[in-house]
Amino acid sequence: MSAKVWLVGAGPGDPELMTLKAVRALNAAQVVMIDDLVNPAVLEHCPNAKVIPVGKRGGCRSTPQAFIHRLMLRYARQGYCVVRLKGGDPCIFGRGSEEADWLQAHGIEVELVNGITAGLAGATQCGIPLTLRGVARGVTLVTAHTQDDSSLNWRALAQSGTTLVIYMGVAKLEEVQQELLAGGLPAGTPVAMIENASLPQQRECRSDLAGMREAALAFELKAPAVMVIGEVAALGVKAAVDRQATA
Ligand code: SAH
Repeated sequence: MSAKVWLVGAGPGDPELMTLKAVRALNAAQVVMIDDLVNPAVLEHCPNAKVIPVGKRGGCRSTPQAFIHRLMLRYARQGYCVVRLKGGDPCIFGRGSEEADWLQAHGIEVELVNGITAGLAGATQCGIPLTLRGVARGVTLVTAHTQDDSSLNWRALAQSGTTLVIYMGVAKLEEVQQELLAGGLPAGTPVAMIENASLPQQRECRSDLAGMREAALAFELKAPAVMVIGEVAALGVKAAVDRQATA
């Protein structure tokens, strides 16, 4: 592999939910810059690489984005094969495309590698089909958190008829609930909140739109978690999930 930057999705947490292409990129990597939602267990695929943690979890001390950009550029220009490892998919609330644009504008070759995004993983791990014939004709991925505090069109979301999957919502539960109720989503709409999806410590809390805040409080729901809102959130094909590999 020639010197370039791979922007790689590490999936939701379970190291076995990573793609073969991600594993190949890690195998070839000399420098790996890793986000803090990535399970460090995946680093077994790059035992000789220099690993640089660049976590930016909300509320924690974070590595400024500009610094991450410059670090990737510096190593790539030195001829190293760089993997930028992100949780889930690099382009779902992951700045993958911003980083790719910036690197390409600086003459660096970039390759994006898909990962399984947390919302899809969380739902499936709980046996929730995000789409279902006759029940949910689509699914909308939404972040409750914005940097510029721009507001979402909650009313349109409430009336979209699609399953909603909310990321970064733990600190915004009240807003999500109130806006969706005000937007016309029925109070009894099922809600599933899934913490640490696909990891051995995964927990799920089922409720409905009216009760989700109290339920989350009683459950002591913590980030990282995704919320699935819609009729399908009452379902649970109890799949026999094998998390032993990560236990
Ligand atoms: N690019 C990532 C999302 C990064 S934003 C992806 O595609 O999954 C961070 C948010 O993702 C968290 O606030 C949480 O809502 C969600 N998330 C990430 N990992 C998760 C996990 N294992 N379980 C539940 N939610 C998770």
